[in-house]
Amino acid sequence: MLDFSGKTVLVTGGSRGIGAATVRAFASRGANVAFNYNKNYRAADLLKQECEKFDGNIFFMECDVSAYNEVELFLKKMGDKMENVDILVNNAGIWIEANIDSYTVDMWRKTIQVNLDSVFYFTTLIARQMREHNTKGSIINISSTAGQVGEKNYSHYAASKGGIISFTKSVAQELGPDGIRVNCIAPGWIETDMTEAIMKTNKSKIKKMMPLGFIPEPQDISNGILFLASDMARAITGEVLNINGGSVLCG
Ligand code: NAP
Repeated sequence: MLDFSGKTVLVTGGSRGIGAATVRAFASRGANVAFNYNKNYRAADLLKQECEKFDGNIFFMECDVSAYNEVELFLKKMGDKMENVDILVNNAGIWIEANIDSYTVDMWRKTIQVNLDSVFYFTTLIARQMREHNTKGSIINISSTAGQVGEKNYSHYAASKGGIISFTKSVAQELGPDGIRVNCIAPGWIETDMTEAIMKTNKSKIKKMMPLGFIPEPQDISNGILFLASDMARAITGEVLNINGGSVLCG
């Protein structure tokens, strides 16, 4: 089993879904884990209690990742409790349906701010910290198949996720000489609160189109995150790891 004892991990949007699975995955492997939530204090607090049985420290705080001042405050408070970050997982995101005729400027901005601006905020601030402390860190950004092939009725979401991929590939080149690796994971359909409404009506249809015959779970994504964060991936940077059960093969 991979061991992250002594490492400090920061997961954005850690209270639910893929983020919560990632917090569990690192905490159960000995890491100190910090995460933020946006509105869902109860879920965040329960997760903290669950992870306290492991050896590392757990810290969480409310922080709207789309607001730079809140991100700065989060990192300051986190810095009072934990060592410098070794592994950053930019996971927080929203997925709001609206087609090109119906979405508003505010909806467009909100999606870009939460999904893409936040990745820039955390990456730039943490990369600075990693460089200052000569940390050979790993940054993992959660994109989506939508960022690669587009997504009907979610063009603002697809744009934000495509932006994450090109941002990742660019920053990987800048940070590589400092020994900092930057990669993406692109999930397809995953069963979480984000997709709950669609799963209620379309789950069997989605399952049928999966070549592997099942819909991946949050832990399938956190497994990929663990790998990219580990020394096993020491030669991998600027890449996109697709974890989608083969869904993109079906169009
Ligand atoms: P989820 O279950 O809806 O959880 C979203 C998480 O992000 C929650 O912890 C939420 O906090 C947090 N969050 C949302 N807006 C935030 C904000 N403004 N500031 C801070 N935190 C915020 O989503 P998920 O399915 O786990 O998705 C995680 C990531 O995977 C997202 O980037 C998503 O785009 C990507 N992804 C998901 C799928 C899928 O099928 N599920 C597919 C491809 C990509 P609260 O609990 O406080 O609300």
